[in-house]
Amino acid sequence: MKLINKNLILSLVTIITLSACGGGSDESTTQTNNSNTSNPGISNNTTITGQFLSSNDTGKFYSTEQMPSYQQYGKNASHCYQSYNDYYFETENTMVFGNPDLPDTDFKQAAQWVENNFNTALTTMAISKAEYFSNRYSVRLVGLKHIRNQLSSRYYDTIDYPNNFDALTYDQQVDWATKTAKSLTKNEAVELLVNDPYSPFQTETQTVLEDKIYVCLHEKNTTNGWGEGSLSGITIGAPSLAIPHEVEKIVTHELIHTIQHALSANFEGLGLPRWYSEGQAVLLSGMEVAKKSDHNEYDPTLVVSYYDETGDQAIAYSHYGLAYQYLKDANGQPSIVNMMKDMKRITYNYSQQKNSTLKEFHGYVESFDKLMKQTNASTLTVQQYRDEYHALMSAY
Ligand SMILES: [Zn+2]
Repeated sequence: MKLINKNLILSLVTIITLSACGGGSDESTTQTNNSNTSNPGISNNTTITGQFLSSNDTGKFYSTEQMPSYQQYGKNASHCYQSYNDYYFETENTMVFGNPDLPDTDFKQAAQWVENNFNTALTTMAISKAEYFSNRYSVRLVGLKHIRNQLSSRYYDTIDYPNNFDALTYDQQVDWATKTAKSLTKNEAVELLVNDPYSPFQTETQTVLEDKIYVCLHEKNTTNGWGEGSLSGITIGAPSLAIPHEVEKIVTHELIHTIQHALSANFEGLGLPRWYSEGQAVLLSGMEVAKKSDHNEYDPTLVVSYYDETGDQAIAYSHYGLAYQYLKDANGQPSIVNMMKDMKRITYNYSQQKNSTLKEFHGYVESFDKLMKQTNASTLTVQQYRDEYHALMSAY
């Protein structure tokens, strides 16, 4: 029986339920902060430099898709793509969209949080801002997927197809089309889309994402599930409605999720198991991580999806952090970034996934097994990290 400081647990519970992201949360935990007061700690002296703009003037909308996807915007941004798609506050690194009736300070505060923590998130992930934006698809995902589909049916005649294209299996054709779509420059992709009558986009500005973090302000007056990170950026609550405890860490955590998408997500989504994506975001944002000596409390590396998560979410998150900390100590952040980039080039293959003995995305397994090491420098595989986790922790 372990004695755990009760205050620590309370603060963990607060942080974690607030930051629940990437697929549902039980959201049943009692709040321990003042999240429902009318103006909880919003700073009145925000001095951020930026301007309020109308998308009808600039042509830059939050979403330009007929059917915006969770993969592009996350699960909590419907507010912004359905209703408040065309009004934003723009600063050096961010565009904050939301209900124009919200106070200006909400937009400014959200932008300030991103500006304060974007560099921290990049530095702790060990990538530069330029690297981040060059890894993020500059064309909206639905456009790239459209190009892939057109390529796999040999629709475009301006592209060089492999000589043996017709002899390839369907999976091979899709693999080639996916890799080709990913490798197009922004201009090449825009050119294909604006000249394609079946394309979801007609103009360049509709097609591209600006090199900014897109922020959507939701209007739930609770700090449960307050933040979320996706391919385009982050969705957070309007500060005048609720501000979670340790908000700067949560914003950093969500920015790390958005960086994860840029580095490793393929056309089917983020292929990282839940313990990995949350563990990386927990550790690198400075949230509480379980002690090595407590490793027996939880089996983090078995948690591939949200549905594998058991027990108290705060405890689970702290153990995801520990499992990630081991990987980071054994490999270093740059090797981990290389692994994530390696994953992104692998095309999802249904039969390969079906035949795999592991339920982790087969591309993650391939890259992890090839590149990850134990602290003693011998190879570490996904299977081993599942089966031998506690032995590895005992020796850590
Ligand atoms: Zn998270």
